[in-house]
Amino acid sequence: MHHFEYKNNRLQAEGVDLAELAADIGAPFYVYSEATLRRHINVFTTAFAGADTLVAYSVKANSNLAVLRVLASENAGADVVSIGEMMRALKAGVPPEKIVFSGVGKTSDEMTAALQTGIYQFNVESAPELETLDGIGKRLGKPAPVAIRVNPDVAAGGHDKISTGRKEDKFGVSWEQTRALYAIARDMNGVAVKGVDLHIGSQIADLAPFEAAFNKAAQLIADLRSDGCNIERLDLGGGLGIPYGTGAVPPHPDKYAELIKRVTAPLGVQLIFEPGRMIAGNAGVMVTRVLFDKKGENRRFLVVDAAMNDLIRPALYDAHHEILPVVRRENAKETIYDVVGPVCESSDFFAKSRALPEFNAGDYLAVMSAGAYGAVQASQYNTRPLIPEVLVNGDQYAVIRRRPSFDEMIALEALPGWLA
Ligand code: PLP
Repeated sequence: MHHFEYKNNRLQAEGVDLAELAADIGAPFYVYSEATLRRHINVFTTAFAGADTLVAYSVKANSNLAVLRVLASENAGADVVSIGEMMRALKAGVPPEKIVFSGVGKTSDEMTAALQTGIYQFNVESAPELETLDGIGKRLGKPAPVAIRVNPDVAAGGHDKISTGRKEDKFGVSWEQTRALYAIARDMNGVAVKGVDLHIGSQIADLAPFEAAFNKAAQLIADLRSDGCNIERLDLGGGLGIPYGTGAVPPHPDKYAELIKRVTAPLGVQLIFEPGRMIAGNAGVMVTRVLFDKKGENRRFLVVDAAMNDLIRPALYDAHHEILPVVRRENAKETIYDVVGPVCESSDFFAKSRALPEFNAGDYLAVMSAGAYGAVQASQYNTRPLIPEVLVNGDQYAVIRRRPSFDEMIALEALPGWLA
């Protein structure tokens, strides 16, 4: 459930009228609902009430400081994949002991900084990474708490590019190599084995792949314990899908929790989760303005002022985002549109052959479910400024990332002496 609803045919974010907001700050922009963020993190944690859990919000989904502050105030931890994300989480108020560090390519500097900071866990993805971390732990005289990310070889996720738990994916340690690597870790002085980690993909819309992977993890924990490894935590990653307006309804967190409690109850482990999309996805929309209604030979193009550099999910993952008018007209005629942006790429689109109410130049439309993997994946391609992010709380709003000026956009560039 989210807090973007029509009132008198005008789309509101909580108590803020989006057309008025657009007139105030200028399109395009992202807008997030604080009440929705709070609701989502609470739905997730409540589903696991009574169990020993750490819910480490996956910062990559939406890393705006204000978003992180909201979630930290709800006691969320943070799953980070770079030292930059760790700095954001700390700055937003997430304590180090609630931070887990994931990712297949951590640098030595990143590992050192995270260990010195005192984070809760490193999710290690390979033998050379383990060796490097062991060396750092020895040098600092501080064993690094680790879980090894195992690859259960289970296909899952809404798109080939967001499936991460298959043999051919770069993530995790292959099932066949896992026990041997744990045996090596067990005997290292620079790391302290704490648990098992897996993350099989994103936008997963049914429970079957989770169940297959989690059952494998439960068996692995039994095997590792019989090998003399100390396994007190199980990190199950993120991946729970959200409704994107296609009619598909992913499992409710309560059902997900039921499954996990059933599989993990006999293990006596702390459960760690890394939800991202599920928390932020439906807590945000992108508002864009219609520039032109371009009538092609046999297509109708709605050219809007946002583009793939602002929201790349349709271009990258063929993602479907529901598109709604910010101001709804009674009895509006439907038209089949391609909704496209100004960037010079054919992949710059938000919808293809989509039946939508007819729009005029100057109308605003809302690209729904854009709170996760939206602003974070934006670029300045075509020298387009990053679009603002706005946070709404009841009837108040604040710009939580402003639009940069052209001078700011080029401030890091310099002409070499011979061209100056
Ligand atoms: N954990 C890891 C290791 C990830 O790679 C990701 C996303 O790719 C997540 C958590 C968050 O996944 P989601 O946003 O689908 O919950």
